[in-house]
Amino acid sequence: MTQLSTPWDQQAFPVHPAVSFEFFPPSTPQLQKKLWQALERLAPMAPRFVSVTYGAGGSTRERTHETVVAIERQLGMRPAAHLTCVGASKTEVETVAQRYWQAGIRHVVALRGDPPEGAGRFTTHPGGYSCAADLVAGLKRVADFEISVAAHPEVHPDARSPQADLENLKRKQDAGAARGITQFFFDVQVFLRFRDAAVKAGVSMPLVPGILPVTNFQQVQKFSARCGASVPASLARQFEGLDDDPETRTLVAAHAAGEQCRLLQAEGVHEFHFYTLNRAELTRAICHLLGIRAAAIHNAKATRAGDNPAGN
Ligand SMILES: Cc1cc2nc3c(=O)[nH]c(=O)nc-3n(C[C@H](O)[C@H](O)[C@H](O)COP(=O)(O)OP(=O)(O)OC[C@H]3O[C@@H](n4cnc5c(N)ncnc54)[C@H](O)[C@@H]3O)c2cc1C
Repeated sequence: MTQLSTPWDQQAFPVHPAVSFEFFPPSTPQLQKKLWQALERLAPMAPRFVSVTYGAGGSTRERTHETVVAIERQLGMRPAAHLTCVGASKTEVETVAQRYWQAGIRHVVALRGDPPEGAGRFTTHPGGYSCAADLVAGLKRVADFEISVAAHPEVHPDARSPQADLENLKRKQDAGAARGITQFFFDVQVFLRFRDAAVKAGVSMPLVPGILPVTNFQQVQKFSARCGASVPASLARQFEGLDDDPETRTLVAAHAAGEQCRLLQAEGVHEFHFYTLNRAELTRAICHLLGIRAAAIHNAKATRAGDNPAGN
């Protein structure tokens, strides 16, 4: 009898992928505790970096800074600080960047940013940066940061055309960006088409898919409408009737995002960025499905550090 390989056959993907995790800065002591629990639960997945968002309109400047620095000092993980152009002059943005560099933070996710909800369209602050490409160039003048930028597989809503949006991504690369992290998407084909088009437009930096595990489908529909991400009917069907059934929803969500990553792996994608929404469980389950093993990583680290786990 022919042996059929299962979809989750680890033989097909012998090397486990690199992962990074995104969090938002907490606004209360309770949320702070939750964030810390999530970070500790995800740390054994050995993320390449963990990033902390910058609230719409620059509203979390201090909290983002505190969280980023605490992640570095207390957990020893590599943090990346999100920084936007909104509501600040170039000098103010550069002061924030200098503080990061002085605190030992070397990775920035440089974004144009969105205005606070209900504040209408993005407007450039007098004396501020008008787009992410200029911010990348400004940050590089401050110090030699590693810089990640946003990429938009379904075209940014303000873009003049898909081609103009790709040219903008290339400008961010030319200004010094090291990778693009994509806005979330659900249809794998959307990412693959985007990746091909980006290469044609001269983008050679890695494009890392942003994966949003669905904890709340209605909320995801709202997020998607705002950022121009499409929600396939097949995904909607999977979450149909689960609004009041969080346990089943979690299992379905792990399967849906795991399958999305597996299909991307089959197309040569070996790095994923997870929008965790400060929750660990789904992201941890998906990492496990992708072959990442906390214990194996710990052992490898201990061996590298010269420990002798066998006690010989
Ligand atoms: C991974 C990731 C993390 C994010 N984190 C945050 C966060 O922490 N805080 C936050 O507020 N938002 C965040 N966002 C959202 C982001 O700020 C918005 O998507 C924002 O609207 C665009 O940001 P950008 O950096 O892509 O902008 P840009 O690259 O500046 O592009 C914005 C628009 O302007 C157009 N454009 C830019 N320059 C030119 C030009 N010279 N000529 C013509 N068109 C041009 C682009 O095509 C695009 O339509 C994040 C998004 C992603 C994908």
